[in-house]
Amino acid sequence: MPLKTGKDYMEALKKLKPTVYFKGEKIDCVVGHPLIQPHINAAAMTYDMAHDPTYQELMLTTSHLTGKTINRFTHIHQSTDDLIKKVKMLRAISQKTGSCYQRCVGFDAFNAIYSTTYDMDQELGTDYFKKFCDYMIYVQENDLMVAGAMTDPKGDRSLPPGKQEDPDMYVHVVDKNDDGIVIRGAKMHMTGMVNSFEMLIMPTTALAAEDADYAVACAVPVDAEGVFHIFGRQTNDERKWGDIDQGNAQFGVVGGECLTILEDVFVPWDKVFMCGETAFAGSMVERFASYHRQNYGGCKGGVSDIIIGATAAIAEYNGAEKASHVKDKLTEMVHLTETLYSCALACSCDGHQLPSGAYYVNPLLANVDKQNVTRFIYEICRLSHDIAGGFIATMPTEVDLKDPKLGRYVEKYLKGSGKFTTEERFRMARLIENMTGGTALVESMHGAGSPQAQRVVMARQANVAYKKTLAKKLAGIDKED
Ligand code: SF4
Repeated sequence: MPLKTGKDYMEALKKLKPTVYFKGEKIDCVVGHPLIQPHINAAAMTYDMAHDPTYQELMLTTSHLTGKTINRFTHIHQSTDDLIKKVKMLRAISQKTGSCYQRCVGFDAFNAIYSTTYDMDQELGTDYFKKFCDYMIYVQENDLMVAGAMTDPKGDRSLPPGKQEDPDMYVHVVDKNDDGIVIRGAKMHMTGMVNSFEMLIMPTTALAAEDADYAVACAVPVDAEGVFHIFGRQTNDERKWGDIDQGNAQFGVVGGECLTILEDVFVPWDKVFMCGETAFAGSMVERFASYHRQNYGGCKGGVSDIIIGATAAIAEYNGAEKASHVKDKLTEMVHLTETLYSCALACSCDGHQLPSGAYYVNPLLANVDKQNVTRFIYEICRLSHDIAGGFIATMPTEVDLKDPKLGRYVEKYLKGSGKFTTEERFRMARLIENMTGGTALVESMHGAGSPQAQRVVMARQANVAYKKTLAKKLAGIDKED
């Protein structure tokens, strides 16, 4: 059924049977599990907001494949306006969840695979594009959340896939027959994987011709035979069995990542979108990465809006809101947030059409956007800690706050301004702690690729030679290099 609600999404998830482990134990159903439900709630927001008239201009669009109204998360960008709306949509959702809603990874995989399969077919005479369009229609008609599965374990980073001591360090094809292929390996840091319907496997790096077995892109159900997931730990995850101490009990922190193992998984040919075409692995990776790096000024912009709001509130709860340095630091947090957002909008406005007809961001600006996230989020969080005070890291638990004997002491000594209750101060402090430490910070650094990955693309896109000719002309130097 097209245009699911959040409830429809959860009901549909319950029908799946993914094999998911946490701390060695198998989870019967991801829906309702305390560790995973907050992430499901965040993903459900991408469905519910599509039914809210306030957000429908951002959340809904028209499929260029069927002419039907679809959720934007299943769309192939048809204009720079689509790219801009994507960024605005992500900021709007983050402002509600304060956390990752995971669905963008598959969204970016759709767009990267769409344009790359078109290019492959044009140059090589393969038939991937038509198959992928059919797959997209299936995704759109069923309003599916699909996990984007790119990052391989990578083993020894100095060696290419085919030279690894263990060949499974990168997902690869181990068998082929008339019906399909068999793949083996694993994908790491899989955002939203356990609460998605399918995953889109992609290569993780550009590949040399001898690594043809590693050039594989395909769609696999999350509960396919041979697939299992080991759910990851997060900072303070034991708190997920509580309320206030979680900070953001409804939506959790970042994306609920897991390690996904693919143990000889069969994939029929109609779900295979690359198999051996090494020359196109690099462009698929770079397009996916640039689309995902575009997002960060939107989604982290919205997350930062909440951190700014929480920091302004805790300053009031502490009675410090009138201090000039507090006002100035809040202004700096706004400046950093809007700079991130500006980069995301800029790479979208300066997008261009690819041969497939789909639109692509300006990759240089998208990578600058994500590179800024690796720094500015840390600075935004540092300023938040500075204003909030050390108690956000040392305060007693909510159990002590509610304890019949200890509670009155915690109430008394954790109180700030008389205008607010201790519980309000507690709640806001925990929200800040949750959103500004541990897992959330590392995710800003490495999500959508580590800083060095962005610098590689920036260096490639920078065209320093052209800048040199500009300088030489002004300096009156005619000599060629
Ligand atoms: Fe989307 Fe941001 Fe989560 Fe990436 S980190 S999946 S862009 S919400």
